[in-house]
Amino acid sequence: MAPARSGATADRPLLRASFDGVWSDLEGVGRDPRSGGYDRFSWTGVDLGLREWFAAEATRRGLEVEVDRNGNQWAWWGAPADGAVVTGSHLDSVPGGGAFDGPLGVVSALLAVDALKAAGVVPERPLAVVNFVEEEGARFGLACLGSRLMTGAVDSSHALSLTDDDGTTLADAMSAAGHAPEHVGLDETALARIGVFVELHVEQGRHLALGDESVGVASSIHPHGRWHFCFEGEGNHAGTTRLDDRHDPMLPFAEVVGAARRLAVEAQAVTTFGRVRVDPNGTNAIPSRVDAWLDARGADQGGVVRLVDDLQRIAEEAAAGHGVGLTVTRDSFTPVVDFDASLSDRLRSSLGAASISAPTLPTAAGHDAGILASRVPTAMLFVRNPTGISHSPVEHAETDDCVDGVEALTVVLRDLLVAPLEVVPAAGGQPGAGARR
Ligand SMILES: [Zn+2]
Repeated sequence: MAPARSGATADRPLLRASFDGVWSDLEGVGRDPRSGGYDRFSWTGVDLGLREWFAAEATRRGLEVEVDRNGNQWAWWGAPADGAVVTGSHLDSVPGGGAFDGPLGVVSALLAVDALKAAGVVPERPLAVVNFVEEEGARFGLACLGSRLMTGAVDSSHALSLTDDDGTTLADAMSAAGHAPEHVGLDETALARIGVFVELHVEQGRHLALGDESVGVASSIHPHGRWHFCFEGEGNHAGTTRLDDRHDPMLPFAEVVGAARRLAVEAQAVTTFGRVRVDPNGTNAIPSRVDAWLDARGADQGGVVRLVDDLQRIAEEAAAGHGVGLTVTRDSFTPVVDFDASLSDRLRSSLGAASISAPTLPTAAGHDAGILASRVPTAMLFVRNPTGISHSPVEHAETDDCVDGVEALTVVLRDLLVAPLEVVPAAGGQPGAGARR
């Protein structure tokens, strides 16, 4: 069904051309020509290319670029000051990721600045476009690394000691990329500058695809976490070792994979073992060790916690049954995030005033906006994803929908820039936007 575009501006063809232009600049960066997927990992050469692109795009627009203590990039329209309107997202990807998860929010933010400037908007407060470091946790294993460090949600010395698959620490990777790691950590200065944060993101699901609208407003993020299961057995010859003599860590791991699925069905949650490391990873060798990472999420936080507890018990029994050692470590857990209700109401009412209809929808995907929500009022806009597929090379959004997203973000930012930032809480709403919590 054709999307409603009643909020479309007369400049739409121009906007579409601008979107195509900026988007095509990014398309080749970090893309595997065979799979079409993106490998954009923090502090790598590819990432440095993306950071240079961001700085150049900002400078071209007359925005002042700053890098904060944690390596997040900020492009300022107006002198940096407390209580700014902040928008943006991230440029990194999962391994073999899609083009839209992250970059759509950054590109849309830059184009929204263009549109606001072209419309002669005179902001009452500064606006910043932000590019957060390592949102996906693809290199160092901790999602939303840049925003977690900034809010103090992760201990800085622990974060700096995290290693990638080659054993390089975050501290060394940052140093090699020219960023001083010694100042990493809670950044009250950067936080105070955020009056509100609005992140636009491609939807990772099919709520919008099942309806008529191309843009939606987020209500909440389901609780989600990552757990590291390490099974330690005994490496040996695949041909000469009797079955009874084996301590094969692959076997309890296999039981756990099946159990995770069964428990997820029962708990109406989702579980995934998407990353596995096998040592020594030889066809004719019984593994000595299997490292696997569980991703678990669901609408019911208690249900997710119980599921992981149950799975851990099953893993312990299975490991003991095979004479295999087991350690389970929680790498991260993000409780349910309810976005600031009055800010979301304000987004919906400014969109409504511009004749843009935007339904409210939850998501099971984590975002920097979810991390920041513990400290500042945050909201999110989602752009329709026709298949719902994400974290995959086939992740997609139609250009017309992306342009709708830019227009919606422009409408929202305009209101936040020129009208008073404090809003009257809606009936039953949370404290107003601009109120720190
Ligand atoms: Zn993302």
